[in-house]
Parts: sequence; structure tokens; C-alpha cells
Amino acid sequence: MDCIFCKIIDGDIPSAVIYEDEETFAFLDANPVNMGHALVIPKEHHRNILDTPEPVMCEVMRTAKKLTPAIKNAMDAGGVNVTNNNEPAAGQKVFHYHVHIIPRHEGDGFEMWHGDRGYREGEKQEIVEKITNEL
Ligand code: AMP
Ligand code: ZN
Repeated sequence: MDCIFCKIIDGDIPSAVIYEDEETFAFLDANPVNMGHALVIPKEHHRNILDTPEPVMCEVMRTAKKLTPAIKNAMDAGGVNVTNNNEPAAGQKVFHYHVHIIPRHEGDGFEMWHGDRGYREGEKQEIVEKITNEL
């Protein structure tokens, strides 16, 4: 399969490896938002959160939990974003499930999205119903 992250796991493409275990692999993002920006991926290939089996996701989050404080401390960061993009509309560029660990510094200027549109009367309940109907 022509997947850049599978090639990284196999060592066919070089990467700056931070951590590896039986199920997961972590390495530095080649184009970091801030220094220490890392990616955690499962060794099994899945496109994104929509098709990744729950146990595989749990392993990825276990590794993210282990690495987040280490990255925060090592980079002397004030905070950390742990995030993931799913499908092109959400900014996904590499289609092998991955979680970003991004060290953040006060005033670094990387604004996250903060909506301010609110809801009109009754709209929240409509949305809640739409979502719960899908569960
Ligand atoms: P996303 O937009 O969530 O799909 O993010 C993909 C991420 O993979 C981006 O932050 C890229 O900088 C990173 N990336 C792509 N190719 C490589 C590579 N060969 N080594 C390390 N990071 C990569
Ligand atoms: Zn892959």
C-alpha cells in the first residue's frame, strides 16, 4: 500500500523516532507547529478515526498519554494540544490515522478555532436529536 506512514513504520522512509511498542509508533512531525510536535500512529493501517477499531485507538491514546507529559517537559511548554484531523474537510492530509501532540507556549500565536455563533431558540435540541439518532 502506498502509505507514507506505513513506510515510516517499516523504516523505508526515515523519521525521528520518539517511541515504539508492539502496537504504536511515534515520531517528530516533519513540519512542526512548534519544536517537539509529534505524531502517534498505530502500526495497523487505518484511514482515520472513522474506521479505526476501538482497541487500536485505545493503544494510540495510551501512547499519547505517555508521551504528552514527556514532550511538555522536554520542550518546557506551557500547554499541549492533542488533536486529530479526520477527512479532507477537517484538514487531514495523510490518510493513516494519527494523533498530533503539539507543545504550546503562551503567546505563540497559533489560535485554535473558537466559535461565537451560538444557537437560536430550539436549535440545540434539534442538533442533539440528530446526533443521538445516529448513535
Ligand atoms: P494531517 O493534516 O493531520 O493529515 O497531518 C499530517 C502531518 O504529517 C503533517 O503535520 C505533516 O507535517 C506530517 N508529515 C507528513 N509527512 C511526514 C514525514 N515524512 N515525516 C514526518 N511528518 C510528516
Ligand atoms: Zn498506513
